[in-house]
This record gives sequence, structure tokens and C-alpha cells, in this order.
Amino acid sequence: MTLVGEILAIGDELIHGALLDTNSKFLAGELERIGVVVHRFSVTSDDPAHLRSAIADACARADVVVATGGLGPTLDDRTRDVVAEVLAGPLWFDAESWQQVQHWLCSRGRPVPASNRRQAMFPPNAKPIANPVGSAPAFSVRIGRALLFALPGVPREMQVLLRSDVLPAIAALPGLQPMAQVWLRVLGPSEAALGERIESYMVPGRNPAVGITASGGLLTIRIVGTAATAALAATACEATAAELRSLVGEWMFAEGTVELPDLVLQRLRAAGRTLAIAESCTGGLIAARLTEVAGSSDVLMGGVVAYSNASKQALLGVSAELLAAHGAVSEPVAAAMAAGARSRLVADVGIATTGIAGPAGGTPQKPVGTVCCAIATLEGTRAWTVKIPDLGRQFIRDRAVFEIWRALLAR
Ligand code: ATP
Repeated sequence: MTLVGEILAIGDELIHGALLDTNSKFLAGELERIGVVVHRFSVTSDDPAHLRSAIADACARADVVVATGGLGPTLDDRTRDVVAEVLAGPLWFDAESWQQVQHWLCSRGRPVPASNRRQAMFPPNAKPIANPVGSAPAFSVRIGRALLFALPGVPREMQVLLRSDVLPAIAALPGLQPMAQVWLRVLGPSEAALGERIESYMVPGRNPAVGITASGGLLTIRIVGTAATAALAATACEATAAELRSLVGEWMFAEGTVELPDLVLQRLRAAGRTLAIAESCTGGLIAARLTEVAGSSDVLMGGVVAYSNASKQALLGVSAELLAAHGAVSEPVAAAMAAGARSRLVADVGIATTGIAGPAGGTPQKPVGTVCCAIATLEGTRAWTVKIPDLGRQFIRDRAVFEIWRALLAR
């Protein structure tokens, strides 16, 4: 037996495309990690009729439903009212939650409008969940077969309450199968090529289950096993992982949840090497991704966004002759940019990107998606060109960043 989960994201701004639903992605990962099998995400507007059917339907299908949003003080925050309707009972007032809401607002020097009192109203039999990081208290309540958790929409608040209250409550439910996971990270082949190599493992119903997810050019083989105990599940996953490691061989580059920028920094750090970046078409994306990683300053010396020819000359020492002879998007210029970053920012390794991200600027010789990259080290400088499919500016820039990770990890 397993616990089936559903996730419900509530809010007009999600339906109108003004806001991306990142809560559900986060929730799915966390629920699966403790062994809940997530069958469905839904996104619904604040419209009471839509919300009512979304909540009732999810609670009829799943054992655990986690909803986010619609717990604010305004009239269009309707989660608690609609849950009360589904349960066909009146809202009740919780004095303790009201104290907490008032305390939260007062401690931040904010007024306490009477409308906030709504936030201390709960559906019949609901169990309030105090919110230490925001004004909206959450709650859990049983609806038919399902235990519903209604959490605030604000991602940080949702995450805090999920960890402090929701996951422990779900972990205590009967029927949760002990499970384990192993992630093998793969770089190099296409998803299809990897799928072919491990296809005998990707059969429905296999335990541990083996699946591939692709994200940003990186492939992850996810091995997920359930068993009578977590230790048995881990042993079974490890046995499958051992077989897959030898099958996947040279394509495997890491295990676990590590991301490419972390891995690049780890590798450079282990080799005692520092890095400098010269970016044209990627406009600082490489530096942004690296500096998202805490502690990157021991490896990353700095980066230059050199977009114009003049800045390539002034900031990186690329010569006017080279630019005139080959054009800004060329291997010689990429090489000079990488070498310039390396020497001017005093690093062991310099990397560079220069390309045509579109939509304009392409030529028959250098169509949109042409990106020249380079890597400069003490041993020498290597430049190469990639032809990235023209699937939009964002896609081209992201793939160019990926190309740099690949080059740095291949060394
Ligand atoms: P509050 O009282 O803080 O308003 P709430 O539960 O009413 O809490 P919402 O008003 O629905 O939450 O959402 C508040 C904000 O949280 C939204 O404006 C949005 O920035 C963010 N948010 C809501 N739902 C999501 C989601 N599914 N994914 C990512 N962000 C979300």
C-alpha cells in the first residue's frame, strides 16, 4: 500500500500566467522524498465554484492533498470558506490563532485591520497550524479519505510550515511505505541514447523504479525503491545503482542532487584552480549561476560582461584587428576574451562566450544560435563553436551556459 498525494495551487495570478507555480514543484519533491506517491498537480483560480470542485475532486482521489494559496485576509482569499462549504459546516473562530495574527502584525509595526480576523476562522474539525514566518495561519482537515493541508501561497512560508508541521504529520500516517532514492547524474548523451542503454531497467512496475528526467541539458537517472523498511529500500536501490553505474560508464559525472555550477566549483577547488569569466551573449548568466553557490569566492575571481566591441577591447584586451578580421562572434575573439579574462582577473582558468542569441543578427555563415566559446589555461587556449537550435533567445543563452559547464567538467 502507498499513500497517494495530490497538490493544488490556488490563485488567479497562476491561472492568468502572471505567476509561475513553483510551489507544486517544491512540494512534489518533498512529498516523494518521504514516500508519498504524487499522482497529480492542479492549478485553480480563486473562483469559488472552481475551487470547490478542485478541492472535492482531489480529496476524493488522494490520501494526502497539499494546497497552497488563498489564506490571506482579503475576500478573494477563499480557501478556508470553500473547504467549510465542502464539509457543509460553518467556520469557527480560533482565539489563539487570532492572537498569533495580531502578534505578527504588531511586532512588525503594522496596523491590525479587522479583516485580518478572517485568518483565524477555520473549517469544521480543522486543526490550525501556527505560522511563525507570516500572518496567515495554515490548517489541516480530513475530507473523506484525504487529509488536506492548506498552506499559505508565499513560498518561504509554505516551505517552513511544510517542514515543521506537514511532513512530520504525513510521516506519522499509516500506509506510508518506507522508501529510498539514488540519483545518478549523467552528462553527454541524449535522453534517447541514455534511455536505450538502460531500457531494460525502465519497465513499469519495477521496484526499485528507474526513470530519467532531463533538465537544462543534464540527465538524472532516478532510482526509487520501496520496501518493508527504509534500510531494505536503500539496499535495493544501491544494488540497481551499482548495475546502472557500470552500464552508464563514462557518461556519469556525479551522484545525488548536486547541480552543475556546484560541481564546476568543486572540481576547480579540488584542483586548486581559480576562474575568470568573459561573457558576451550570456550577459552575466554564468557569473550569476556560480555566485548563487555559497562560498564560490575562493574559486571565482570575477567576470566581465563585454557586450560591445569597444568593451571587449577595453576590458579584455581583444585587439581591434582581430575583431575586424573575424567578427565579434568568432573563435579567435572568444579565445582572446578568455585569455584576457584570465590575465586581467589573475586566474588560472579563463572562459568566454560570444554568440548570436537572436532574434536578429544572424547571417547565412553565422546563423542565430552560433555561439563561440573558449577556455584559456596555463597550458594554452582552446576555442570552439556550437550551433544551438534557434528555439528562442533564452534557450540559446541557457545552452551556451551549459556548454561552458560541459567544457569545464571535461577538463
Ligand atoms: P498571504 O496572506 O501572505 O497573501 P496567501 O495564502 O493568501 O497568503 P496568496 O495570496 O495566494 O497566499 O499568494 C501570496 C503570494 O505568494 C503570491 O502573490 C505569490 O507571489 C506567491 N505564490 C502563491 N502561490 C504560489 C505558487 N503556487 N507558486 C509560487 N508562488 C506562489
